[in-house]
This record gives sequence, structure tokens and C-alpha cells, in this order.
Amino acid sequence: MNIGVLALQGSVAEHLKMITSVNKKIGAIPVRTIDDLASVDGLIIPGGESTTLRILMDQFDLYTPIRERVVAGMPVWGTCAGLILLANRIEGERSYFGLLDIDVKRNAYGRQIDSFVAEGDFAGMYIGMVFIRAPRITRVGDGVEVLAEYNGDPVAVRSGNVLATAFHPEMMSRDNRVHKYFCNMIENKA
Ligand code: GLN
Repeated sequence: MNIGVLALQGSVAEHLKMITSVNKKIGAIPVRTIDDLASVDGLIIPGGESTTLRILMDQFDLYTPIRERVVAGMPVWGTCAGLILLANRIEGERSYFGLLDIDVKRNAYGRQIDSFVAEGDFAGMYIGMVFIRAPRITRVGDGVEVLAEYNGDPVAVRSGNVLATAFHPEMMSRDNRVHKYFCNMIENKA
């Protein structure tokens, strides 16, 4: 099994390391081209800057192939900026993939200096959650499951093969359980 991390910008190395830590037999593949994408069974769209990521995905001709794979059932996980790009609606700007029935507001928890770590349940596991200029999920559609909340806001959601977290599990270097959860999503799909 191979898991790809979109490697155009953002926290790529951290995700690749976490995947390898879950199971050495899982390939952790940086994805920059259509060929890279074809070799993976699941894709992580990392945190970074969603405006930059959408420009780079367009330039690298990755929009349509990624979208088609996800529509065909490939598991995808967006963290932070990745969540924004998966959302059906983004306050004040046009959506990108529109593959997840949520509305989001960018940078809703403040500036970089307002970054914080919280703790809470994620799908029945107690985890630490790192928020860095995180988006706020302001609406969750009917078929969307809330996996984690912070202060009453949903911060991790799942709809079938689409997983999204407003926080950064790849920053919790000693805890790979959210990455394990995503690996299980891919394994259980077949
Ligand atoms: N603030 C960024 C954006 O709006 C997301 C930040 C992050 O991914 N850590 O795209």
C-alpha cells in the first residue's frame, strides 16, 4: 500500500514521516505529478496556505486527476489548508474541490501568533490538536460525521472516503494514531 502526500507546499515531510512510523511496509510517496498520483492508494493534502496550494495544483495539472480519483473512491485526508480545499463552501471565496459538504471560514481562530494546542476526543481516542491559523467549520452537511470538536465547533469530520481535520496531527510527533486511522480507512476500503 502507498500513501501519497501532496508535495507542492506545506507540512509534507512531517506527514511522510508519520506514515512511515505507522507501518514501515506502507510506502510514503511525495506527490507532484499525475504519475505519482497514479501510484498511491490514498492522498493527504497537507496544511500550508490554501491560496498557494490551489494555484500550484492548477499549475501542476493536478486538479482534475485528484478530483477524479476521490470521486472514484480513493481516500483523501485534508489537514487545515487541505480541509479548506476539500470544502463545498469557503466564506468570501470560491470553493476548490467541493468534495465535502461543509462550510468553512479561513483563519477564524486568529493569526499565527494565536496558534494553540488543545486536547480532545477524536473518534474515541484522546489526542492533542495543534491549531495554526486554522479554518473554522461553520456548517456540517447531513451525511457528514463529526469525529472531533473543540469548544463546540467541529474540528474533524468525515464523509465516506473524505477525512478532514482543522488541526495538524502530523505535528504531534509522538502520536501517530490519526495517521493510523487514515491508513485503516484505506485498508478497509478494498
Ligand atoms: N491559514 C491557512 C489557509 O487559510 C491554513 C493554515 C494551515 O494550513 N496551517 O490556507
